[in-house]
Amino acid sequence: MLSFPSLKSCLTAKPVPPNLHSSLSDSFSGSKSLSFNPQTGFNLRPKSLQIRAMEASLDYHFGTQLQTHIKTPTSLKIAIIGFGNFGQFLAKTFVSQGHTVLAHSRSDYSDTAAKLGVSFFSDPHDLCEEHPEVVMLCTSILSTKSVLKSIPFHRLRRSTLFVDVLSVKEFPRSLFLEILPEEFDILCTHPMFGPESGKNGWAGLTFMYDKVRIGNDDPIISRYGRFLDVFAREGCRMVEMSCADHDKYSAESQFITHTMGRVLERFGLESSSINTKGYETLLKLVENTAKDSFDLYCGLFMYNNNAMDQLEKLELAFQSLKRELFGNLQSLYGRQLFEEGE
Ligand code: NAP
Repeated sequence: MLSFPSLKSCLTAKPVPPNLHSSLSDSFSGSKSLSFNPQTGFNLRPKSLQIRAMEASLDYHFGTQLQTHIKTPTSLKIAIIGFGNFGQFLAKTFVSQGHTVLAHSRSDYSDTAAKLGVSFFSDPHDLCEEHPEVVMLCTSILSTKSVLKSIPFHRLRRSTLFVDVLSVKEFPRSLFLEILPEEFDILCTHPMFGPESGKNGWAGLTFMYDKVRIGNDDPIISRYGRFLDVFAREGCRMVEMSCADHDKYSAESQFITHTMGRVLERFGLESSSINTKGYETLLKLVENTAKDSFDLYCGLFMYNNNAMDQLEKLELAFQSLKRELFGNLQSLYGRQLFEEGE
């Protein structure tokens, strides 16, 4: 277990460690919680018994009735645009923390939203008229541009925080800077986990973020801090990193992981009674990858400039391995033929 000073320095440290996937194990679990203060950054504070009891009593099926009991001055009104697999997954935790969650998506998710305690709006105009403090873009990478362009910005408050959770980062960063009105703040983030890896909680899982454009006023800084606190409170490992660095490292890690999962899926791995631990890991990888949409995988490739290089590097590595194996085989046959000849 890390002591508090070292934990705090991990959360605020710069430069950021290159490996986004390294874990701080369970340092954040137990009876402490993290909060964000504009002056002091993230703070670890003991949770009161009351809060812990409240958290223990919350599950993901409560409705708006229970939500209203746990509203606090730190609650945010968060609009999720793109209420598919990942949007719903994040909404559950937002609601459980007492935030007001609104959603809009291409498909009608009214029933699902109601079960989660989320207000669903089929028309983005109606959603924007609710004046959310945070608008979080959670749509597929491929549809991001058209979805962003369809948001009626003029119906939002002049000061709104725009966040994205796309698995690539330079692309939404440029898009936000190009399309969003100048008054809006911009926070690019990537929760480096999903419904599968985060199904038992987010403690120790990495949350990458880049403050692309955040104003200097106290309320603005506080709003941005309260949004980050959603993830810090759950025990995420908070990593501040530029979008460019993110895309470089994630092409090497996330894109390759997805590629291997999809290659092995097509290869057709089968389970047997003599699976080794390593093989079980591969089966799990295939299972996890298959749960993500092909749009997501396609987005990782098409909207990350580093992905093509990584794919070529992978192909070269495969060819070089094959060459080495065939080379060994050839020299063995060569020796045998020579011995037989003698
Ligand atoms: P996804 O396939 O990447 O995106 C599905 C979402 O995109 C749905 O809300 C869908 O709306 C919307 N969408 C797709 N095509 C659209 C179009 N032409 N017009 C309007 N909306 C469209 O799957 P996902 O897993 O839910 O991911 C959502 C975002 O989160 C992605 O940007 C992804 O990179 C990011 N992310 C995902 C994970 C993960 O583990 N899944 C982790 C971190 C970040 P409808 O459902 O209404 O059709």
